[in-house]
Amino acid sequence: MIDLRDVSRRYLLGSNEVHALRGVSLRIEAGEYVAIIGQSGSGKSTLMNVLGCLDTPSSGQFLIDGEDAAGLGVDELAALRRQRFGFIFQRYHLLPHLDARANAALPAVYAGSGGAARIRRAESLLTRLGLGERMHHKPNELSGGQQQRVSIARSLMNGGQIILADEPTGALDSQSGKDMLALLGELHAQGHTIILVTHDAQVAAHAKRVIELRDGEVLRDSGTPPEHRPPAKDAAGQDGPALQAGGWWQRRQGQWREALQSAVLSLKGNRLRTVLSMLGISIGIAAVVSIMALTSAARSSIEKDVGSFLSGRIPVWRGNPNLPPGTQAQPFRPNEIEAIRALPGVKGVTVEREVQLTARHGARDAMVSVLGADANILTARKLKLVQGRMISPMDLNSSLQVALIDDKARKNLFKPGESPLGKTLLLAPGGGMDAQAAQAPALAQSAGVALPVTIIGVVEPDSGSTVQFGGWFGQVLVPLTTFSGKLDLRVDADQFHVLLDFTVPPEEVRKQVHFRLKALHGVEDFDSWNADEEFKRIQSVTGAMALLFAGVGAISLLVGGVGVMNIMLVSVSERTREIGIRMAVGARQADVRLQFMVEAVVLCCLGGLVGVGLSWLAAMGLNAFQDELTVHVDGTALAVAFGVSTLVGLIFGTLPARRAAALSPVDALARE
Ligand code: ADP
Ligand code: MG
Repeated sequence: MIDLRDVSRRYLLGSNEVHALRGVSLRIEAGEYVAIIGQSGSGKSTLMNVLGCLDTPSSGQFLIDGEDAAGLGVDELAALRRQRFGFIFQRYHLLPHLDARANAALPAVYAGSGGAARIRRAESLLTRLGLGERMHHKPNELSGGQQQRVSIARSLMNGGQIILADEPTGALDSQSGKDMLALLGELHAQGHTIILVTHDAQVAAHAKRVIELRDGEVLRDSGTPPEHRPPAKDAAGQDGPALQAGGWWQRRQGQWREALQSAVLSLKGNRLRTVLSMLGISIGIAAVVSIMALTSAARSSIEKDVGSFLSGRIPVWRGNPNLPPGTQAQPFRPNEIEAIRALPGVKGVTVEREVQLTARHGARDAMVSVLGADANILTARKLKLVQGRMISPMDLNSSLQVALIDDKARKNLFKPGESPLGKTLLLAPGGGMDAQAAQAPALAQSAGVALPVTIIGVVEPDSGSTVQFGGWFGQVLVPLTTFSGKLDLRVDADQFHVLLDFTVPPEEVRKQVHFRLKALHGVEDFDSWNADEEFKRIQSVTGAMALLFAGVGAISLLVGGVGVMNIMLVSVSERTREIGIRMAVGARQADVRLQFMVEAVVLCCLGGLVGVGLSWLAAMGLNAFQDELTVHVDGTALAVAFGVSTLVGLIFGTLPARRAAALSPVDALARE
């Protein structure tokens, strides 16, 4: 079954060549019980590693069932280890974070057998070995003898046709050692091939054949006993036939579950380290998610405004910030308004009338803008009523002398805490400003007689809108009929709204209005609300913010990713022995790679989750302190966070995972 022909194994120690094996030739038949004996350093372990496909000879041939192992790839060697060999090491080599049952079952994970069958077999093997009560104990809760029995169960998990035991009694007390040898004898009787490495002649005496090594050469070989008979094919023994290897899907499932479990265990085992290495990723993801949330909040806020713009009207007012200083902007005359009304896409025009007057209450007076108001004034001017009542149809029909004042006017005219409701305001031209006085000819004509109005309500700018009307002065709203009958007899308007019928794009209508008015005025001494400009202004602000956040996000993701890579490299080198054990029981390179990739991705995704949490908190804070924008961190953010985290994990986990997978099993096992 096993045929070594002139096998040598050399190690390079610095510039020295160490010959661990020199031209070893031997044949071992199926079902033999062989002891390899020799002093320390004679090459026993090296020979056993070659026999077990953990190591490859430097020269010579190693045939197993007639097939040359030199022609096999790493994964084919792994498959051989998995399917035919069972290893028992002097120091047990159990995985410390797995319990006895999971340790015993490990080879079947890589063989891809189903979970339930795996556990059943592990339990039956452990029970047979007298560990029925110790299934869920971790290695450090077991005695040496018990640990060694767990490792026997592990070696039998996939059948263990050939059991390689390297000094299996070396670390055991004498009773456990005796038990161990009795067990090996039993296994031999059941048809397992046993290859036992020892330096102890008494231990070797249990074997049917003894091969003695010295300085890497075979000194003596008692040879296959003449009475040796190859075991019957179904010599699998009391523990029943080995498990069937599962299909592709079952194998994948097992691989992923194992990778996930080991990732979670490893991250849990190093909590502080995990949290610290998550930090960079968290900040990066928080930045990315915040950009998304902020931009989408800004966009919906703009869209709301543009929506109200589109839902009806383009405000046009006299005055333009680009006019040369000292230029008097002309009010809009009725014929101009009629011309606008006739433009295509215009459903109608509503005129707003406004005049600056002095308002007096008791000893206080202040300049105010007085507006002629109808029932729609609050929507048109983006105001909301905070106290008192609105102007009613009765007020309008009877031209009553009532008024709404805004917050600014209230502050200027009333003491803090004093309620303005029911108080009387005197509206008069003047304040020494002749230009303003000239705007109220009706009052001027009535020789400075002030118009008393009763305050019926208080309004405030409706926040949550980026468009704000009103200027320096407080506003006073009086019924439109009162305004044109008693305050301002002019017919010219200071402001009007173009109502759209949407047969023409709003921006096109706006251009036409400007074109027509400019032609009539001779100069562009008016302005209108431009949704596009507003849009751009807000976009440039959110754009700059997004860029800043994106920069912070990208940098911290990069730094975080490098941190994760670093910690994963540390993790690989800390767990080299674990990797060796997994490889010895048959893990493929892909299994090892997957394990570390999954760990990196899980780490990054945890970081991402914390990042989403952070940005959610930030959004809550932002929403609590202002109401211009309402920021939501939603499912999309979560999805993006997971996507980006996974990507970072994949990118920065690759190097450590490759490094782990590229380890040679013997080197990895030998590492302390
Ligand atoms: P044994 O198991 O009989 O004690 P080994 O097979 O472990 O002997 O070692 C045989 C010789 O090879 C020793 O001289 C040892 O120092 C050397 N050797 C074993 N492994 C390595 C290695 N990885 N690198 C260098 N030298 C090694
Ligand atoms: Mg040794």
